Amino acid sequence: MKRFLLAMLSVMLIMTSCTARNNTASSPSSSTPQGPSAEKPEEESAGFVEEDGLLLEDISLLEHAVREFGEEDGILQYGDIFSCKILYPVSGMIEVDQTIAQWAKQACDDASREIEELAARSDNPQGSLTYNYNSYLIQDQFAGVEEIGFYTHSGLAHPIDPIAVFNIDLQSQKIIPNSELFTTGKTGAVLEQLSEKLQSENPEISANMLEALDESWLENALLKPEGVEIILERGSYLPSYLGTKRVLFSYKELGDALSIGHRLTAQSTETPQNPADESKQDGSTAAPSRNALDKDRPVLALTFDDGPTVTTGKILDLLEEHGGRATFFMVGNSVQNRSEIVQRMVAQGSEVANHTWDHKPLNKLDPQAIRQQLQSTSDVIYEVCGVRPVLMRPPYGAFNDQVKTVASEMEVAIINWSVDTLDWKTRDAAATYNSIINEAQNGSIILCHDLHRETGEAMVTVIPELIARGYQLVTVSELLNTAGAGAIPGTVYTSA
Ligand code: ZN
Repeated sequence: MKRFLLAMLSVMLIMTSCTARNNTASSPSSSTPQGPSAEKPEEESAGFVEEDGLLLEDISLLEHAVREFGEEDGILQYGDIFSCKILYPVSGMIEVDQTIAQWAKQACDDASREIEELAARSDNPQGSLTYNYNSYLIQDQFAGVEEIGFYTHSGLAHPIDPIAVFNIDLQSQKIIPNSELFTTGKTGAVLEQLSEKLQSENPEISANMLEALDESWLENALLKPEGVEIILERGSYLPSYLGTKRVLFSYKELGDALSIGHRLTAQSTETPQNPADESKQDGSTAAPSRNALDKDRPVLALTFDDGPTVTTGKILDLLEEHGGRATFFMVGNSVQNRSEIVQRMVAQGSEVANHTWDHKPLNKLDPQAIRQQLQSTSDVIYEVCGVRPVLMRPPYGAFNDQVKTVASEMEVAIINWSVDTLDWKTRDAAATYNSIINEAQNGSIILCHDLHRETGEAMVTVIPELIARGYQLVTVSELLNTAGAGAIPGTVYTSA
């Protein structure tokens, strides 16, 4: 049975990768009642499916795979306890092809050995490793290949997201070693810029997380048409709950810090980008420009639950107009139909957060159902905007120890509030305004609902008034960072 399923899944994986689309009718997850996406509409297949305890990545994670270099080839190997599927490009450049094929075989062998060792220690071990890739051409001079992996086995609490990068010089037909991509002695300024970009693009990254920053952070530097992308693999550089981070440097920005810079013409450095598309494609967050926080002025976090709705768009308009950010705790089943609004949140600098799939009280559910509520929502948010939430708010603010444990396992912090506007009850813009203006103070987390039109109306006066009173309207992650250690997974916060 298991073998058959694996074979079937493999065929489907190949099908989906060829068409680069979710095949919803035959999606493995839709035929798996216990799968994480069982409750979801069929077009929203989860990132991976669980079958008899074995996790297999749905290769359609790379829905928009870019294939500008080489022809697709790969390794496919499956057995009772371990399966491995690694896709990679072959180009006809012998040395390049050999290096990449050897890397793939090594990755497969290493993982296979690990599962065999696990078998000696535990009953019924299961594991799988998959990689899919993007390949880019840069001015017909270079190619960049990024291998995006997903590795899991029954001895791991969390799957691992390994990354491998190959940069190829098409003239010499050789792979450029990572150590030779940057000019010796010129990486200091790049690292400084990397630190700045990481902090300005990711409010959840605090300065002390960057203390260990050194040249090793440049190891996964990928050549792309628009510049060099530094990929920081999940858990290897920053706390793992922050996920994989990507930072793009244009070729112009890097100048002669890049050893091959002189071979690239300047015109490629100004490629205009649609922030929403970019973040959707490869998971990097678009970089909204935002002013640094003033430590001497009070901060507070406006939070909106139960959206996205039409009102959400109006609130984003107001934040844009007056300058401010908010946090949106969204119900997963509303996200897909309003993906543009979710993308706007990210582009505008607001924070996307998890409010379960369909607003069930989590304290009444078993751990598996809690996990499913959070996972499916996190997946759909990631799917539409490229950002995976690090915060969740339980419906009705209701949690217990089980909810905390699952939240900790899923690496999200639990956010309740210090100011309850009761906007859902009063449904009156003036009452909501009074509640916020009277109760707000430095460090407040304010509970509102963008489900209600009246709440949107209240914001027309609330947002400019708070700013006039000197408040900086920040996201919850920013608020918790300003106050100290940031949002720790599994911990409950009601204010900073
Ligand atoms: Zn709610």
